[in-house]
Amino acid sequence: MMDGIAGRIAERIRNGGPISVAAFMTEAMFDPREGFYATKNPIGAGEDFITAPSVSQMFGELIGLWCAQVWMDMGQPETLQLVELGPGTGQMMSDIVRAWRAVPGFTQAAQISLIEASAALKMVQGRNLTPMGVEAMWLDRLEDVPPGPAIFVGNEFLDCLPMRQAIKHEGQWHERLIGLSETGEAFAFVLGPPLGVEADLLPERLRDLPDGALAELRPGDQQVIDALADRFKTHPGHALFIDYGPATSEPGDTFQAIRQHEKIDPLAAPGTADLTARVDFEQLAIFARSAGLDVSGPTRQGAWLKALGIEVRAANLIRHAPEKKTAIARQLLRLTEPDQMGELFKVMAISTQGQTKPPGFTPEG
Ligand code: SAH
Repeated sequence: MMDGIAGRIAERIRNGGPISVAAFMTEAMFDPREGFYATKNPIGAGEDFITAPSVSQMFGELIGLWCAQVWMDMGQPETLQLVELGPGTGQMMSDIVRAWRAVPGFTQAAQISLIEASAALKMVQGRNLTPMGVEAMWLDRLEDVPPGPAIFVGNEFLDCLPMRQAIKHEGQWHERLIGLSETGEAFAFVLGPPLGVEADLLPERLRDLPDGALAELRPGDQQVIDALADRFKTHPGHALFIDYGPATSEPGDTFQAIRQHEKIDPLAAPGTADLTARVDFEQLAIFARSAGLDVSGPTRQGAWLKALGIEVRAANLIRHAPEKKTAIARQLLRLTEPDQMGELFKVMAISTQGQTKPPGFTPEG
């Protein structure tokens, strides 16, 4: 017997037929009563998953200094919109703001907005940021950010935007949908109708794959890029995305569910696990360049953090707190080593055309 969110999704499928992976993700994550993000904070060692800002303060601090450098390269505009997409607990923003204390003028210039879909996480963000004296605005959409020069940052934001899947079948891409098993007691994947014109959203590199191939489509990425492109035409800006995924488009199913640090079947218990998919950085760059934006990266997170000086920062922290040496060294490795977060995670900046290239990227990337 399926109840709660699962029951409501099953009912929707019984009435209207199988739904897309994207629709399933949206219901499971943001159902106002029981959605995974809607009701609680899942981020942290004792919760469901860990993200880079919760590993170490160094991560947010370096991003804070990155923002300050970009602001200087933009000519130090008097006001700068600083926007975080999907701020989670607010940890990264609090480290960003702390790092600015070393940068004259920047704190006065920055107006902070947080774009957050979860009511529960908005409360956690407020609790963490208000005592630091951070004045932030909470907004629902990127389009609501006040005009003017801007920097957007998003860590592990794109991976939770709704993703769709397609399978090549008899020479045509068909959407892979979620329906009900024969007994009606569980969810099951089913082959849907051909994609038709929506095949335009397929990663370019994967379009000609043979029958049986699976590809993922990211309408959410396209929407974010469209909104940024619209804004960046009139107001100069940069957007920094850090997330996990390949540098070149890869076929295959990356739909995953994480609950209490373990992978589970993504169809098993919607609302109880984080549902995500890998970000396809090659396709993200294609979307951005076709919208007339400049792209830096993707660069591996480890290389990017090292270019920004994470090793020097770690050495400084250890000098001030020698008793924390082992912990800080471990955090550094966690963020930068190839077999930890250093290689799977990539960093990409998407910018108004013709701006100074942001720090941390090589001239070619
Ligand atoms: N950046 C944080 C949190 C990552 S989890 C960190 O690194 O720790 C993903 C975050 O994005 C959560 O805060 C989630 O509620 C938010 N989110 C997911 N989809 C969103 C959407 N469509 N609009 C706004 N926020 C969203």
